[in-house]
Amino acid sequence: YSKIDGMLFLISEAVRGDGAKLRTKKGEKFMHKYDEREELASRDIVARAIDAEMKITGDEYVGLDCRAMNHEKFLEHFPNIYKKCKDEGIDPFTQLIPVVPACHYLMGGIEVDRDGQSSIRNLFGVGECTNSGLHGANRLASNSLLEGLVFGHNAAMKTVKLLNENNFNFDDLKAVPEWNEEGMKIMDEMVIVSYLRKQLQEMMSDLVGIVRSNRRLNMALQKHQEIAAAVDEIYHYSILSPQLSELRNLTTVAHLIITQSMEMTQNKGAFYNKDLV
Ligand SMILES: Cc1cc2nc3c(=O)[nH]c(=O)nc-3n(C[C@H](O)[C@H](O)[C@H](O)COP(=O)(O)OP(=O)(O)OC[C@H]3O[C@@H](n4cnc5c(N)ncnc54)[C@H](O)[C@@H]3O)c2cc1C
Repeated sequence: YSKIDGMLFLISEAVRGDGAKLRTKKGEKFMHKYDEREELASRDIVARAIDAEMKITGDEYVGLDCRAMNHEKFLEHFPNIYKKCKDEGIDPFTQLIPVVPACHYLMGGIEVDRDGQSSIRNLFGVGECTNSGLHGANRLASNSLLEGLVFGHNAAMKTVKLLNENNFNFDDLKAVPEWNEEGMKIMDEMVIVSYLRKQLQEMMSDLVGIVRSNRRLNMALQKHQEIAAAVDEIYHYSILSPQLSELRNLTTVAHLIITQSMEMTQNKGAFYNKDLV
């Protein structure tokens, strides 16, 4: 991702594939220290190398050097990236593009079978929310297409089959009681919700990033308890809003990520705990 004035936009990995080189802010190449394939190493290795260099130098980003690339080809292959950089005041043909690795997918946690059936009867999951088993140590470009298309199709076929085989009584759904807001108050200080969300996001980025350690995971768990207690308190007296629901869900997901990272006994991909072999 490019990081210009705090704003992030995606610089496709294909740019590296076409010959762009990574350099520190000072202009030094570094990928050779991490992998003999250098810039063409797999995405987890490149992301970790950038993270390591940023930690060594204290810089907030590294540079992607496209200067030696064929300019005509670059414009032909990456017109949007070129335009976006120019709009932000960066000329990729004369300057380094500031980049950082960023999270742009999850490998979800809902266990499903090949039809997308979860462990709850008749509840199906498809796509990023699921642990479909399709991904190896890392996701590759367009893994999500396979996940959405194949599992979406399978889940639809299975649902139609179940509907034909069973007599569902959709009136049963009406038996679900309405949400009860009695005794709840309108949240009149939404700033608390946005403050807690920022705290949670910052804590997860700083302590539970690409490269993790036992010490930082323990710190994250402690900080999480503080945030979760505050969220819980608000949740129990406030009328529900999308912002509050999202914050509560983010808090739950963060807890699962931290605790399951702590339970891992080996590095299998997606993230790397430097205290594990
Ligand atoms: C920049 C970028 C690069 C990526 N690169 C890769 C890659 O290289 N490889 C890869 O495998 N993946 C990649 N991904 C991830 C991939 O795009 C996602 O995994 C995939 O699009 C998820 O599809 P989905 O259908 O599961 O979820 P989504 O596309 O997020 O669809 C969920 C839908 O549900 C709707 N929704 C949400 N809440 C509610 C609600 N309460 N009620 C009703 N509807 C709701 C949303 O509006 C949305 O339409 C990338 C993502 C980004 C942003």
